[in-house]
Amino acid sequence: MVFPRDEEELLEQLDENSIILNGGTDIMVRNRVKGLNASKIVSLDKLQDMDKIIDEGDAIRILAKTTYSQILSNKTVQQLFPILQMTIREIGSTQIRNRGTLTGNIVNASPAGDGVLALYLLDALLVIRSKEGERTVRIDNFIKGPGNTALEVGEYVHSVIIPKCSKHAAHYFKKVGQRKAMAISIASMGAIYTLKKDMFLNLKMAFGSVAPTVIRADEIEAMALGMEFNETTATILSQKAKQTVKPISDVRASSEYRKEVAGNLVLGMFE
Ligand SMILES: Cc1cc2nc3c(=O)[nH]c(=O)nc-3n(C[C@H](O)[C@H](O)[C@H](O)COP(=O)(O)OP(=O)(O)OC[C@H]3O[C@@H](n4cnc5c(N)ncnc54)[C@H](O)[C@@H]3O)c2cc1C
Repeated sequence: MVFPRDEEELLEQLDENSIILNGGTDIMVRNRVKGLNASKIVSLDKLQDMDKIIDEGDAIRILAKTTYSQILSNKTVQQLFPILQMTIREIGSTQIRNRGTLTGNIVNASPAGDGVLALYLLDALLVIRSKEGERTVRIDNFIKGPGNTALEVGEYVHSVIIPKCSKHAAHYFKKVGQRKAMAISIASMGAIYTLKKDMFLNLKMAFGSVAPTVIRADEIEAMALGMEFNETTATILSQKAKQTVKPISDVRASSEYRKEVAGNLVLGMFE
């Protein structure tokens, strides 16, 4: 294992044989279950000044090593990004949140990633760095499928940029798992919306665990505009959700059950 101390040393170590170890909460499990497909582990443990949240005016920037617990205790996040708080509070246990990072959740690219779902709703951008320089990619363009991302050899995720959203927006998140605590979700749904005179002025909605990646429900978002926040709208959008999601059947739940759950999650937002 190697322990780069600054970005230059880190970039020197990244090649086709290396894998980054950040909080280790996914990698340790993967190593135990199927082993790591890499001969060199590049730990971020000694990397300096990479666990900060920076207020950049119209956005915040979360650096690669920032843990979930650090995000939860950040005042700006508490005020402006309730959805990030709601999703992170559902991740694992305190121990997991003390070690796990948002960048690890992103590169792990699970359709059940709770932090990832918040980032889809917040239209987050990822800053990817390599020896050649820097590129910025939208979260939904970065995640390609389960465990599959647009990260190239020699690159790492330097930071996550989240544009600030309106203080007046309502935030909602719910996940359904097999157990009450520490469960990988069967389905999850998050939304950010603003109402004017009880009508949807805007709506962002995303689902987890019902497709190969987290998905934004574009059609539902468009449909909701101008509709009243009431039972009739809840029923219409819930039906649409069941048609929109494309879940698989696996050991946790069948495809049909997941569709039902997705519909019920939409109904839940209106309760
Ligand atoms: C008991 C338990 C419960 C859990 N519960 C949940 C849950 O409820 N919801 C949920 O979403 N997740 C859950 N997780 C999964 C996990 O905690 C998260 O995915 C976590 O965010 C991973 O972050 P990490 O820093 O530990 O990543 P690591 O394990 O260090 O790395 C994960 C992957 O990301 C890569 N990586 C990490 N950082 C970078 C970077 N900056 N640049 C490039 N590549 C990088 C690594 O190479 C690796 O491929 C759980 C895990 C455990 C063990």
